[in-house]
Amino acid sequence: MFPSNKTPNRKPARRPMLNMYWMYAMIGLALVGLYYFQNNDQTREVNWTEFEKTAMAGDIEKIVVNYSSGEADGFLTEAGAKRLKFDMQPGFEGQRKIETTIPSTDKVQEKIDSWNAALAAQGKPAITVNYEKGSDLMRIFWAFGPILLIFLGWYFISKKMSGGPGGGGGIFNVGKSKATVFDKDKGTNVTFKDVAGLAEAKVEIEEIVEFLKNPQRYTELGAKIPKGALLVGPPGTGKTLLAKAVAGEANVPFLSMSGSDFVEMFVGVGAARVRDLFKQAKDKAPCIVFIDEIDAVGRARGKNPNMGSNDERENTLNQMLTEMDGFGSNNGVIILAATNRADMLDKALLRPGRFDRQIYVDLPELTDRMEIFNVHLRNIKVSANIDVEQLARQTQGFSGADIANVCNEAALIAARNNKLEVEWNDFMAAIDRIVGGLEKRSRIITDDEKFSIATHEAGHATVTWMLQYGNPLVKVTIVPRGRALGAAWYAPDARQIIPTQALLDTMCGLLAGRAAEDLFTGQIGTGASDDLEKCTKIARSLVMVYGMSNKLPNINFNDSTGQDYGFSKPYSEETAELIDKEVTRIVNEQYERAKDILRQYSSQHNAIRDMLVKNEVIFHDDVQKILGPRKWKSRTDEIIEINKKEEENRIKNDSGQNNPDSLPIPGNTKTRQPSPAKQQDSESDDDGTPPPFNK
Ligand code: ATP
Repeated sequence: MFPSNKTPNRKPARRPMLNMYWMYAMIGLALVGLYYFQNNDQTREVNWTEFEKTAMAGDIEKIVVNYSSGEADGFLTEAGAKRLKFDMQPGFEGQRKIETTIPSTDKVQEKIDSWNAALAAQGKPAITVNYEKGSDLMRIFWAFGPILLIFLGWYFISKKMSGGPGGGGGIFNVGKSKATVFDKDKGTNVTFKDVAGLAEAKVEIEEIVEFLKNPQRYTELGAKIPKGALLVGPPGTGKTLLAKAVAGEANVPFLSMSGSDFVEMFVGVGAARVRDLFKQAKDKAPCIVFIDEIDAVGRARGKNPNMGSNDERENTLNQMLTEMDGFGSNNGVIILAATNRADMLDKALLRPGRFDRQIYVDLPELTDRMEIFNVHLRNIKVSANIDVEQLARQTQGFSGADIANVCNEAALIAARNNKLEVEWNDFMAAIDRIVGGLEKRSRIITDDEKFSIATHEAGHATVTWMLQYGNPLVKVTIVPRGRALGAAWYAPDARQIIPTQALLDTMCGLLAGRAAEDLFTGQIGTGASDDLEKCTKIARSLVMVYGMSNKLPNINFNDSTGQDYGFSKPYSEETAELIDKEVTRIVNEQYERAKDILRQYSSQHNAIRDMLVKNEVIFHDDVQKILGPRKWKSRTDEIIEINKKEEENRIKNDSGQNNPDSLPIPGNTKTRQPSPAKQQDSESDDDGTPPPFNK
């Protein structure tokens, strides 16, 4: 059965098997057990008469009288223990004793003295006697000690569990929210100036700033202010930054918490934290509540109650839904949440009245990347010849966080080399390092290994060059980096719509390394496993997600909400077989296609391979010299051309209208520095756009 889109009913929470009461019971039992079993003496209770008889028979060597408990212990001689039939197994290290209640504590000393006198008369050794006062404190300790220990144990565990930033810590704060609060004194200091690119997201979110600053403008017209907005996008694209900027611009407190902070081992804690967070927010209104990684609590509630559902998380989510319903829309609290997986979220969260707005924060395009570089280069001393546009071209597919990392890494590399400013080479080294990991020149590689790595990488380079949708090649290297022994780097073209042929071409390019090994060395190696994994995944998506295979057209077997249906598959065994056959067929076809291309261009492949063996790194231009110019333009270049045309039109219109107040189009800012001479040969020409997509 396919999933229905209906919101799952809120169901009463089931208590998990292992809740905190069970844990207390177990700790308590362990302590009581410890108390009773640690005493390994053999003890038998007797009445006073029997005790006296044993003493008079000379079977007791020592008596301990405890006045406060009113009891006496008689420690037996070996003969006495045997006579009373105690267990006499060898190796026993405890003591054997009899225990009795004293009839009269006043007279006990007199009585024992009389026994000793009688024993002396019979020529038997006297009994040693200890009279202990005993303390009430000890008795109280034994009565309440275990309970005290249980509470202490709970205290320390809960303190540990609720530790962390903002966590009050301890048993009494376990249900308090762990939100980090930035208020007017300790503001976020982030404004829209710090957020580069993201023009559309900013427009949408600026409205929220307006709601917070001038609510009456909306309420007077009878409009309801939205309760929340969901920022959706890949990791590191600036969602948190944007939320902070809203608080900074509106100059309101900002309560920030991560979805995973709600989740706790103890039942009910998540819901208590949600209640506390919303209470804090109401007290601080107008304010912004920011919940990062909301998917940690907001994931769609499971349909199968026995499979993988997490009741504590569901309780927390239910509480969040209730709280969002509970407060009025115009009370000045706006909830922003961020996620990388909006498709996984419970539909109930997304309905109007909760997170009524979804704002998409995508990976930055070329102009956005230029702006992000400009923001992060503000505090870095860079040499005059750094071309921001070139840097942005080199970092296709990078998120804002990656770009921030490139800038920082480049500065670190320059500092390591005692430079006074950060140069182009430092940026290139930083990009290489971020994409491929550290260079490992020290790893020893034999000539044979070098030859097969070069054959493999030259295979990728040759075939990708000859495919329409092959991404523009940046460089090929056989210097080990990170876990890879070699790599061909491409600038991925961020296409909005991917045609079937593009998927097939990508698969063909991925299989080209293995195909080249097979064709030119006669033996295949394990180095292609990563390529094969990626290729198989694409083939599977082609059949199961995009419905692009001829045998199973237009069917999607994927459940993007990640809901759980146990072990059942939403297709029959025959269909499963057909899927497998289709996947295998498509992969095999692309493998043969890669081989065909390599056969056709074998001399060029071998030239690239030999150059690689000799130089270890070759660039786009070197490959172009061998294979000739590519027939197809890269999408990035097309975008650059479109941007240039738009910019020219804008300038024309502006000067035509001669309107000094016209606003610049966001995202169209050009290079930060005067554009210098084009960079090194390899990066300078049309298709030589780089970055990193390590295969
Ligand atoms: P995640 O989904 O992993 O939580 P995120 O989308 O919330 O990531 P942020 O934490 O906002 O990403 O971004 C991390 C860092 O990346 C920021 O502190 C900032 O330095 C940099 N950054 C990201 N996007 C931008 C941007 N558009 N402009 C300037 N800096 C950015």
